[in-house]
Amino acid sequence: MTEPTETLKAYVQDDDCITITCPVCNQPACLKVESFRNKCQTFKVRCACKAVFKVKVDYRRFYRKPTEIPGIYKSLIPPGPGGEIMVINLSKGGIGFKAFTGHGIREGATLQVSFELDDKKRTYLQKKVNVQNINGDVIGCRFSDPDLFEKALGFYLQH
Ligand SMILES: [Zn+2]
Repeated sequence: MTEPTETLKAYVQDDDCITITCPVCNQPACLKVESFRNKCQTFKVRCACKAVFKVKVDYRRFYRKPTEIPGIYKSLIPPGPGGEIMVINLSKGGIGFKAFTGHGIREGATLQVSFELDDKKRTYLQKKVNVQNINGDVIGCRFSDPDLFEKALGFYLQH
């Protein structure tokens, strides 16, 4: 079998996974890439169909900045109450926060989170997010529309 010469691009998501689609059999595959971090950005993947192809991983797009920012959330879907949160990390793709015990947040819910960045201007952000994973009081969310992030957030993540 000939190796496809093109290199696939992949972005690291908030769960440290990349999703790639095999160019030969079109099967999507999820790879955990944490172990590749700070190593070679391009690596070879062998699909279940035995095709071998190259993947170039972009770690920067979803670089997660550790934070300690108080905020609030409100449950939109299902409609429900909200509460105070502590934003513990931020990326262009999403947000991780700690909610208080007994928060009642479920995977798949849509929330609205509001907080002020701890930058000089104290930029106020209000974002719609989808809950991706829950680990006790720690909630991992993805922005509903990751392309719609504010300039201020992009600047904040670079500093
Ligand atoms: Zn394949």
